[in-house]
Amino acid sequence: MKKTSLANKILIALILGLIFGIVANTLFPEALNSTLSKWVLVPIGNIFLRGIKLIVVPLVLFSLIVGTASLGDIRKLGRIGGKIITYYLATTALAITIAIILAKITNPGIGLNLPKPTEFKATQPPFIMDIFVNMVPTNPFDSLVKGEMLQVIVFSILFGISITLVGEKAKGLLNLIEQANEVCLKLIGVVMLFAPYGVFALISNVIMSQGIKVILPLLKYGFTVLFALLLQLILVYGTALTVIGRVNPITFFKKFWTVMVVAFSTSSSNATLPVTLKTCEEKLGIPESIASFTIPLGATINMDGTAIMQGVATIFIAQIFGIDLTVKQLLIVVLTATLASIGTAGVPSAGIVMLTMVLQQIGVPVEGIALIIPIDRILDMCRTVVNVTGDAVGTTIVANSEKELDITTYNTLNV
Ligand code: ASP
Repeated sequence: MKKTSLANKILIALILGLIFGIVANTLFPEALNSTLSKWVLVPIGNIFLRGIKLIVVPLVLFSLIVGTASLGDIRKLGRIGGKIITYYLATTALAITIAIILAKITNPGIGLNLPKPTEFKATQPPFIMDIFVNMVPTNPFDSLVKGEMLQVIVFSILFGISITLVGEKAKGLLNLIEQANEVCLKLIGVVMLFAPYGVFALISNVIMSQGIKVILPLLKYGFTVLFALLLQLILVYGTALTVIGRVNPITFFKKFWTVMVVAFSTSSSNATLPVTLKTCEEKLGIPESIASFTIPLGATINMDGTAIMQGVATIFIAQIFGIDLTVKQLLIVVLTATLASIGTAGVPSAGIVMLTMVLQQIGVPVEGIALIIPIDRILDMCRTVVNVTGDAVGTTIVANSEKELDITTYNTLNV
């Protein structure tokens, strides 16, 4: 009963935040809005954000060590890893293909009279091989302090495997880590009590400061991205859950939407990670040994929503500059955007930085990015929902393929 009311409170906070943001943006004087934002909304939003972020690193560390140690079999880890990475790459490639086809139909950049973009400072995207090399930490404490997620994942897996290999002698240590993990999961529950206020503050602040005017010329681009995101959510994930996962997709979404609201309001897969993990384990019936591995990995490398934005944005910018992309160039977009999604950090606006890499590969001017920035904050919120949902869908499918999904928990409506 209590849980239901918290989930509903979060939804109400989201709706109220949207309404308040629109009212404030259109009716309140600007001075009042900036005072409200500075003294009330930004501090409250940040307290919530920091509260959920504070648990990310210890949670991934403890739960992945416990998860790997409880697998008991290294081959199984390899098999699960193979399945989930295949799923992540395939759905990302599919996402970007949908995005490109849709953008080719709507032609968001044709017939627009936008001012030629002013300067855009392109940030150098990382060299793709460096991403793989840097996954191995040289100093795990440094990785923990800096929150380098891929490094923390690699370290935790190695540590978990070693605990299994040591066996009986390491039992005490494993018990301790298991207890720390329990405490971390509880802590998320405590922080989430503050979620309705945090969500309200984050949403109303974004809407209040965005204004409708900047959005209008980019409406077609925005709607194309939104429509592709929706297709990915309903069509791709719905079908994947039904056909490959053999579970009811409606049950999934009923249980997962609170996580989607958190992803929407924080714009960050990383910040949402603790809530995703808790929901997967406690509501969807996915064992910790699988979720603790696939969810942090997905939050770091699987970004279907981001890939969709990059696909539509590439076509949009190319059209603005009057460039007609060839089929070969479009295939390069699919490939680079899939790779770019691996390199995109799960933090706000990271996708825009990696878009530079995609555009550079096919010779479309990166300055074009300046054109889409005005509405990127809102689209970022939406694509993060898809990014996070994709991780949980893949995890559910893999868990069921391993016959480890607790189907009774999955089907019990304990939302
Ligand atoms: N904000 C997104 C995420 O955290 C990444 C992006 O900018 O596309 O998933």
